[in-house]
Amino acid sequence: MTMSQGTLYIISAPSGAGKSSLVSALLSQTDDIKVSVSHTTRAARPGEVDGINYNFVSMEQFKNLVTDNAFLEHAEVFGNCYGTSKLWLDDQLNAGTDIILEIDWQGAQQVRKLMPNAVGIFILPPSQAALQKRLDSRGQDSAEIIAGRMAEAVSEMSHYNEYDYVIINDQFEQALGEMRAVIIAQRQKLAIQQARHAKLLADLLSENQ
Ligand code: GDP
Ligand code: ADP
Ligand code: 5GP
Repeated sequence: MTMSQGTLYIISAPSGAGKSSLVSALLSQTDDIKVSVSHTTRAARPGEVDGINYNFVSMEQFKNLVTDNAFLEHAEVFGNCYGTSKLWLDDQLNAGTDIILEIDWQGAQQVRKLMPNAVGIFILPPSQAALQKRLDSRGQDSAEIIAGRMAEAVSEMSHYNEYDYVIINDQFEQALGEMRAVIIAQRQKLAIQQARHAKLLADLLSENQ
């Protein structure tokens, strides 16, 4: 089996659509795929762990990382800065691991330009009311922050048509299955299978057995 470059998945959604829950459930049942841990200047929510959910940094540290060209992409979302670290990502993809970026549409546009083979998935809630309810029931943000995120939701969702796949997260298990199906189908694509199974294909097509 030959090592092939991993696939990069870009997953975006309005805040509260269920992106993080879906990604964490997906990772627990799929091999050879990891999520990139972004850097952010936002404060950690209760229960969030530095280095696991995000690398939490000060504005000054963030600016230094930008100056050092450490980010593949970075963007300001809801008044905080978020960025994807480049080095780790390249190492993982080169080692053949599939990687998920949970980033906003601005970051997605930047990554698509740099990595045109990236596969985009947009997660939508079943209604605006459901989105509001999920943001409330997550219970981790203040009313003011939730109102700000709801106000941004329509503008974020208007970018859904820049992605390859669109998943409606109504019933969680169904949405999870649909996301998994995208990844499984992607892994059977011709170019990927040719790289992964070069030896097998050569053997199968050999005339002198
Ligand atoms: P949540 O999505 O409601 O859980 O809130 P977060 O504060 O975790 O994320 C807010 C927004 O920032 C979401 O739209 C994320 O997709 C986006 N985001 C997170 N990490 C990155 C990143 O590294 N780069 C960019 N461009 N956006 C990011
Ligand atoms: P995001 O990462 O997109 O901001 P989360 O994964 O934090 O969203 O989900 C927001 C809230 O909605 C969480 O409390 C989560 O448990 C809940 N949630 C996720 N998917 C569903 C679903 N299909 N039905 C109901 N609630 C959901
Ligand atoms: P998290 O802490 O990542 O936000 O989510 C906690 C867990 O809630 C996730 O692992 C996910 O499986 C689960 N979850 C959230 N909403 C639903 C739902 O509507 N249906 C089901 N079956 N599971 C859910």
